[in-house]
Amino acid sequence: MGSVPGYDLAIVGGGMVGASLAAALAGTGLSLALIESLPPEAEGHTSFDTRTTALGNASRRILESLGIWGELAAQAAPIRAIHVSDAGRFGFARLAASEHGLEAFGYVVPNAQLGAALWGRLRNTPGLALHVPATITDLRVTAEGVSFDIQAGDSAPRPASARLMVGADGAHSQVRLAAGIGALIEDYGQVAVVANVASDAPHADQAFERFTPSGPLAVLPLADGGRTVVWAVPAAEAPALLALDEAGYLARLQQAFGWRAGRFTRAGRRAAYPLRLTRAREAVGVRSVLIGNAAQALHPVAGQGFNLGLRDAAMLAECVASALDPGAAEVLERFARWRAADRRGVTRFTDGLVRLFGDTRPGVAGLRDLGLLAFDLLPPAKAALARVSLGFAGPTPRLARGLPVRRA
Ligand SMILES: Cc1cc2nc3c(=O)[nH]c(=O)nc-3n(C[C@H](O)[C@H](O)[C@H](O)COP(=O)(O)OP(=O)(O)OC[C@H]3O[C@@H](n4cnc5c(N)ncnc54)[C@H](O)[C@@H]3O)c2cc1C
Repeated sequence: MGSVPGYDLAIVGGGMVGASLAAALAGTGLSLALIESLPPEAEGHTSFDTRTTALGNASRRILESLGIWGELAAQAAPIRAIHVSDAGRFGFARLAASEHGLEAFGYVVPNAQLGAALWGRLRNTPGLALHVPATITDLRVTAEGVSFDIQAGDSAPRPASARLMVGADGAHSQVRLAAGIGALIEDYGQVAVVANVASDAPHADQAFERFTPSGPLAVLPLADGGRTVVWAVPAAEAPALLALDEAGYLARLQQAFGWRAGRFTRAGRRAAYPLRLTRAREAVGVRSVLIGNAAQALHPVAGQGFNLGLRDAAMLAECVASALDPGAAEVLERFARWRAADRRGVTRFTDGLVRLFGDTRPGVAGLRDLGLLAFDLLPPAKAALARVSLGFAGPTPRLARGLPVRRA
């Protein structure tokens, strides 16, 4: 095995979360490999496509600590107010960031921009071997480490080993499978249809979350003055919504959303994402750990998936940066313990929202009206939601507090 590279960490998947972990570990002295099957600018990339992502305040702070926020700031649209409503019902709630002493609840950033900023940082980082486009094969796990082959195109597989294998390879994680970790998968029976739109009213930094009979519909502000629409519809209705011409789609959107954002005038290309809740049964295995969508892939209703995954990455970086052996069981157990409450809380919150507002049983809509009205009137309930933008529960990663991953 003389010439086989032995890394401290092999990160499989360089999407939003895996690339963030690599950026967080750059300069720590750990030897890293990042194995990613698609270049970040590839058409149809799983992470860095035409979508936008709402980043909460903890995420902004982490990206600031990584020195990446500066590149994103000009493309980031602040969300200073959120309007939540239930279509056809009288209940609604309004939240203003200023009421909670926040400059904004979050910032909407194009995924492609995030990919360019993260990968720009990763190229030419000392101690980081980038294998892209490449995948791993023949993964073998022992108590001392993992060995595997790196397969790039048609070239011969190259053997390598690592003390820790990180699964950042998304909801269908190969690492999760290889580590023998099962997953609970629940199909929401919904598809998110995403499009950028223009309207004849300024967005005034306001986001809308509207619960319609077909599914939740979010309208978020963009830095160019436009808006992005994430509309979850029953899977059976998605093909028809995608097949509509621009005028037909705008009419359907207007009907479902109403006039709070003015008249919708233009829509860009629509893209579809089937929605499932995927939860790994364990956060860690022998010499292996799961982060981001590989650990939990959520419904996009509250825009929490990447925010949660970024806190995974920040906390894992902190746990391994000062460890003698980054893949030691006690290091992985500490990571799992520190992340448990945040992961559980955000997953339940997101799933609970989808189920509560999808419930058509008699009487439930009335209770929701009361809930939204009470929510609008009750400062503590609003404060709880505002806190989601900062991280749900459990220890806050050092990067989210503006500190370097490693203690001095
Ligand atoms: C419509 C929609 C809107 C969303 N909006 C928001 C939002 O506003 N805010 C928010 O926080 N979250 C949002 N999310 C969630 C967010 O997109 C995900 O949480 C995020 O993409 C997770 O990133 P990830 O890197 O863990 O996984 P992925 O994005 O799935 O990336 C996985 C990466 O691994 C690579 N890969 C996969 N298999 C292999 C392999 N075998 N070998 C090598 N590489 C591999 C893939 O090419 C990819 O680059 C949204 C999701 C959807 C569907």
